[in-house]
Amino acid sequence: MILNPLSNQVGGHDGVLSMGDDNEIIVKPALPQELKFYEESVLHAELAAWMPTYYGTLTLTRNQPGQAGDQSSTNGAPIIKALNGYVLSDMMAASTLDEEDAANAAAAAIAEPDVVADEAEDNGVNDDECICLENVSLGFKKPCVLDLKMGTQLYDDDASEEKKARLGAVAANTTTLPLGFRMTGFEVYDSEKDDFTKYSKHYGKGLTEDTVLDGFRAYFAAKLGPERMRLIIERFVNDLTDFLATIETQELRMRSSSLLMIYEGDAEAFDAGLSIEQEKIAAVVARAQAHMEKGAREDQEGDDEDDDNEEDEDDEDFEDYEEDDEEDGEVGQKVTDIRLIDFAHSTWTPGQGPDEGVVKGVKSALALFEKLLKEDYQIE
Ligand code: ADP
Ligand code: MN
Repeated sequence: MILNPLSNQVGGHDGVLSMGDDNEIIVKPALPQELKFYEESVLHAELAAWMPTYYGTLTLTRNQPGQAGDQSSTNGAPIIKALNGYVLSDMMAASTLDEEDAANAAAAAIAEPDVVADEAEDNGVNDDECICLENVSLGFKKPCVLDLKMGTQLYDDDASEEKKARLGAVAANTTTLPLGFRMTGFEVYDSEKDDFTKYSKHYGKGLTEDTVLDGFRAYFAAKLGPERMRLIIERFVNDLTDFLATIETQELRMRSSSLLMIYEGDAEAFDAGLSIEQEKIAAVVARAQAHMEKGAREDQEGDDEDDDNEEDEDDEDFEDYEEDDEEDGEVGQKVTDIRLIDFAHSTWTPGQGPDEGVVKGVKSALALFEKLLKEDYQIE
């Protein structure tokens, strides 16, 4: 099986898939607007840093019985037709089909382009075109994931009147309009049951300005103890503060985009992630100190004879360090992560200033997290 349904999906439509040995790549049916948004994100590095890495597109075709792509072994599952982007060889290698099967399947699908075109017409959209993204929940053992839908307006400006009225009412009847965000789905790891407690979008829709803090309490309910949980919330406060500074400089309109927030729900993994981070910080500090001491020593000695040589050595040291750090691109244990996702209704709008609805949402989330720290963790 090449593609799996995404585990830990907390919101949105069915049909988000993942692939790779560690399901490290998200494969999501792409609406043209989302594809365009990702393609253009390279021009907006500051915001792109908050988005999952975009790998490229992948076209899937249904493996229908009796057609050229039919292979009973894949049971009507989507197969790879074509892939643009640099992960092609990795993806093929990661599949459990042997290489020859995968190549045959791809060739058969490419030989039948009409099948894909017909399906696209039937569906109204080409749902075989997918975007490939970094799976943000990779690096967590028990990811506690929250999809926080941002902004005060949920529809595009060019939506139908019917859709505007319908989604306008949803905004007014939930926390979307008053607070600029709504908790969509989330799930929390329960170590006693060794299972996730799941909250649907209906739960989030039922929350009001007065009860939404309890919604966050439900999200921060993994049994990690108050010290770890306080740290998690403080990290989110720091990240949201940075994110706010970013979006205040960005000119775009996000409609129904989400902040995907994740924290580690397994205490042991959490501590391991934390010590990996601390080791990294210690290594950087030690290096910076060594560098400064060396500089000071050289200044004192006034010896600039073989300066060039020494600079070369420095560069080599630095490369070594980077390589050690990255270990073949493997994702290490994470503690928390926060990323902006879902751009099916978002557009870059140069000259039109920031999205005030999203700015409002980040500010209210920050205020609530700070309130939580104060009330439940006695942090002023
Ligand atoms: P939709 O348009 O259906 O709402 P989203 O982009 O919001 O699609 O994705 C739906 C869900 O899939 C999210 O709530 C999240 O749980 C999961 N998801 C989407 N993208 C990623 C990603 N890059 N990494 C991890 N999980 C993701
Ligand atoms: Mn979504």
